[in-house]
Amino acid sequence: MADFDGLCATDCSRCPALVESRSRIVNGVGPADAALLFVGEGPGKREDEQGEPFVGRSGDVLEEALSAAGVTRRDVRITNCVRCRPPDNRDPTAEELDNCREFLEGEIETLDPELIVTLGKVPSQHLLDRSVAITSEAGDVVDVRIGDRSRRVLLSVHPAATLYDRGQRDGFFEAIERAASIAGVGSTDGEGQSQLDRFG
Ligand code: SF4
Repeated sequence: MADFDGLCATDCSRCPALVESRSRIVNGVGPADAALLFVGEGPGKREDEQGEPFVGRSGDVLEEALSAAGVTRRDVRITNCVRCRPPDNRDPTAEELDNCREFLEGEIETLDPELIVTLGKVPSQHLLDRSVAITSEAGDVVDVRIGDRSRRVLLSVHPAATLYDRGQRDGFFEAIERAASIAGVGSTDGEGQSQLDRFG
């Protein structure tokens, strides 16, 4: 039986393989009233060790992009589709995503963010409930039914994609700046207008 307080899950053993592979449940971090919510796939090794989503190199890239948009990590909330580390960093199964969906939807409902940003293909497909070609759809903003409400979702590549393909870096930074602008956080002064000169 799991406990869930609207943001954090505890004592959950719904996914036997993940209970086996995790050291801890990695809940979302950030203010409970953040306007901007980032959703990743699930914890990796470092996240599992530290108990926080998006630490390590991916987290550094995300923080860099946030900083370029005039936002700090403390201003936003960051969570995952599944809260326990899959073995060998495999993708979570459909059943595991389904098991953890209640917590993600509950967190979104508690937060009521202005904008959700999906970081990578798995969270994009999970929230949109369709196949997503993330490299071509990244930067798109769509309205999606989540729970009993329509939510604005901006699709983004995973920050790690910028480490392997430097060409994706500018697109990722632009997407984060656009997200900050839509959510009304950071130093942007109109949708995606303030710092785009840097990318020209
Ligand atoms: S991934 Fe989610 S549903 Fe599965 S055991 Fe962890 S907290 Fe529970």
